[in-house]
Amino acid sequence: MLKNNIGVGSSNKWSRVCDTCQSAACIVYCLTDSVYLCSLCDAKFHAPNCVASWHERVWVCEICERAPAAFLCKADAATLCSSCDAHIHSSNPQASCHHRVPILPIIGSLLGQDHDIIGNIIVLN
Ligand SMILES: [Zn+2]
Ligand SMILES: [Zn+2]
Ligand SMILES: [Zn+2]
Ligand SMILES: [Zn+2]
Repeated sequence: MLKNNIGVGSSNKWSRVCDTCQSAACIVYCLTDSVYLCSLCDAKFHAPNCVASWHERVWVCEICERAPAAFLCKADAATLCSSCDAHIHSSNPQASCHHRVPILPIIGSLLGQDHDIIGNIIVLN
């Protein structure tokens, strides 16, 4: 059930690189384009004045940096994909009590947004 390829602490823990420039770690996944993008490429492709700025994007999991995040753990202040969420929050009884909320897609420019704002977006819902 749990995937064992999370790789935390192993020697081959590489962040997924940006699909476009392949020279920076990706930070978001565009659901519309099905691509992982670094902040620079995201700003380029989803510039506020272009139609693509309405593409829905999600943050990349902070733990494995390889999959789109599905949950925000408020206790850890971390964005987690479903497999990391399952892995981390099944590891001990305390962690399993953490309150997680589903991550909503980011729409619009990422400029001025960072992980701290995710909580606000979810509250506004
Ligand atoms: Zn890039
Ligand atoms: Zn896009
Ligand atoms: Zn993950
Ligand atoms: Zn947690």
